[in-house]
Parts: sequence; structure tokens; C-alpha cells
Amino acid sequence: KGTIKVEGVSKVYPNGVVGLDNINLDIEAGEFVVIVGLSGAGKSTLLRAINRLHDVTDGHILIDGEDITKASGKELRMLRRNIAMIFQNYNLVKRSTVARNVLSGRVGYYPTWQSTLGLFTKEDQDRAVKSLERVNLLDKYYTKARDLSGGQQQRVGIARALMQEPAVFLADEPVSGLDPKTTKVVMDDLKRLNEEDGLTIVANLHSMELAMDYATRIVGLKAGKLVYDKPIAEVQASD
Ligand code: ADP
Ligand code: ADP
Repeated sequence: KGTIKVEGVSKVYPNGVVGLDNINLDIEAGEFVVIVGLSGAGKSTLLRAINRLHDVTDGHILIDGEDITKASGKELRMLRRNIAMIFQNYNLVKRSTVARNVLSGRVGYYPTWQSTLGLFTKEDQDRAVKSLERVNLLDKYYTKARDLSGGQQQRVGIARALMQEPAVFLADEPVSGLDPKTTKVVMDDLKRLNEEDGLTIVANLHSMELAMDYATRIVGLKAGKLVYDKPIAEVQASD
């Protein structure tokens, strides 16, 4: 569980900008794929297509054999549950506690009225505790998100994503703006999820150096095209 098949995917934005140009990519369960490329290369556009935050113009994306580009309604919701995502700007509710932010990862599992009232099951509260333990932040349970450092906020983002119990974990520039030491903590968290839980990880990074430290495979995008795709063992320092 956790395979991603990208077949001939193109994305043209309404203003005519080509975000992706005929991308083909076959990702096995348990890979740690890092996508590198300059700003504007199409990295975010690809991740957003994989969990269908936006539609593609052409092609198909299969998650464990199911076409997410064609899914709708209940089927789409079920597919999306398998795909967690973290963001460059963390996307936390800053005035809420860490606990609330993490529990919000389960909101889609409840009727709206129930999640609005914050009535989470005991099981989900236990899940939140476990998720925070995975990123070593259980001691921040009652802290407001705005009182955390950037690295801590991103780790809360990871804990929230884990609430979905995903098979695929997407990370869109997860460490941009973080210092090298904090970057390592966040990337090590992702690495652990990959190695211990077998999650398929696809992360966008600017830095080839960082990619080489963590990826099992590196994919390069340039102007919307896939220009590089190698398992880590074949990557040369000069690439
Ligand atoms: P990054 O380079 O960090 O991925 P951007 O600054 O390119 O982020 O994009 C920020 C937001 O603006 C995104 O939501 C993106 O979809 C949107 N965006 C980027 N480029 C354009 C554009 N040419 N026209 C309209 N929206 C854009
Ligand atoms: P990256 O993540 O590699 O920085 P993006 O996927 O954000 O690149 O952007 C790829 C191209 O698509 C860029 O030219 C960007 O300006 C454009 N783009 C991104 N989002 C939008 C948008 N919402 N509307 C129009 N163009 C966009």
C-alpha cells in the first residue's frame, strides 16, 4: 500500500502557464522520493495534483491503482485519507493549541456538527498523543501553535498528517526557512516514518545536498518537465 503512478500528466493553469508537461513517474510503496528543481519548476504543482488539491489538464494519477484524477465525492474522500500532506508555511491554526491542531487531522472522519464542537473520541485523543510522541512534542500538547518555533510547528504539521494514518506522505518544501539544525530534526522525523512505518514519502526540496542525505530516489523537474530520475545509488555528486 502506498504506490503512486503518474501517467502522462500535464497541467496548464487558466492563465496559460504550463505547470507540468507530460510527467511519467512510477513510485513504489516505501520509497523516499525527493523532487528537486528551481523555483517555478513545477514541484508544488505535481504534489498538489497527487492528492488532488487541484485538477490536471491531461493524464492520470493512480494511488494504489485507483485513479484520483477521476474520483469524486465519497470515493475521492476515501482516496485522500491515504495521502497526507505538509506545507512550507505549516498551515496550522496559530491561535489553537497543539492538541487541537493535531486532532483537526481527524475532522473529516466526523459529522461536521461533532467536529465543530471538538468532540473527539477517546481513540482519536490517544491517536493524537501517539502522533505527538512520534515527533517528540508531547510536552507541547496544551501550547498554542503560535508560541512554537518554525521547526516545532512543522513537526506538529507532521503529527496532524499522521492522524490520517496515511500510506503516502507528501511534503511541500517542508524545511525551507529553517536553520540547518532544525532542518535535520524535521527531515529525521520524515526518515523515521519512512523506515519504521514504511510510508511512501514524496518531498519537494530546493537543496540537492539535502536530497542526497535522505532520498532513496531523486527526481528532477525543470520548466514542468521531468529531466532527472535516479535511485540514490546511481546519483553522482556532480549531477
Ligand atoms: P513557491 O515558489 O514557494 O512554490 P509561489 O510563490 O510560486 O510559491 O506561489 C505561491 C502561491 O501563488 C501558490 O498558491 C501558487 O499556486 C500561486 N501562484 C504561483 N505562480 C502564480 C502565477 N503565475 N499566477 C497565479 N498564481 C500563482
Ligand atoms: P515549484 O514548486 O517548483 O516552485 P510551482 O509548481 O509552484 O513550482 O510552479 C510551476 C509554474 O506554475 C510556475 O511558473 C508558477 O508560476 C506557475 N504557477 C503555480 N501556481 C500557479 C497558479 N495558481 N496560477 C498560475 N500559475 C501558477
